[in-house]
Amino acid sequence: MTQAITTENKICTKCAVSKSASDFYVDSRRGYLRGKCKDCLKQEDKAYRIANPEKKAEQVKKWRDANPDKAKIITKRHFEKNRDAMYQRTAKWREANREYCSQLTREWAKNNPSKASANASKRRAKLLNATPVWADFAAIQVEYDLADWCSKATGIKYHVDHIVPLQGKTICGLHVPNNLQVIPAKDNHVKHNKFTAI
Ligand SMILES: [Zn+2]
Repeated sequence: MTQAITTENKICTKCAVSKSASDFYVDSRRGYLRGKCKDCLKQEDKAYRIANPEKKAEQVKKWRDANPDKAKIITKRHFEKNRDAMYQRTAKWREANREYCSQLTREWAKNNPSKASANASKRRAKLLNATPVWADFAAIQVEYDLADWCSKATGIKYHVDHIVPLQGKTICGLHVPNNLQVIPAKDNHVKHNKFTAI
């Protein structure tokens, strides 16, 4: 049963409680307030979700595909509201599925070699405090993409080398584009942490 939009209280057809108009959803297509209150509809939806998890997931997916912008806002709002709980749940899940997670990471690294090696260098540079706040990560990523491209084009493995090593004996370099060069991996291994000023 529907009722014209009103600002007055309205009785829910399900729980029979008199509630304010804002406690009811608007059926915008027909310009009516829904008969059941928001709480009752939410409860029904939850019961349906539990009884028909696949159908509900399908419905949600359909709606999300049809309303990508709204879906993004809802996801963001939900994330912000439940940030800590979600981080904790994710951490717990990762812990319980450690093997699966590392497999996913390995697969991702295999499919995204230049991003993976850029990430590895970023971690290493962070440990060594070699990344200044002004480092241009997009420009850094270009060097790793280039190394990957060279490897694929030539069949020889290329690495991104720190011209001045991050952990040199007498001098420590920074993890910044100016200090990066793409060289064949074997040269990089020979060079290791040596730096010869020209
Ligand atoms: Zn109700």
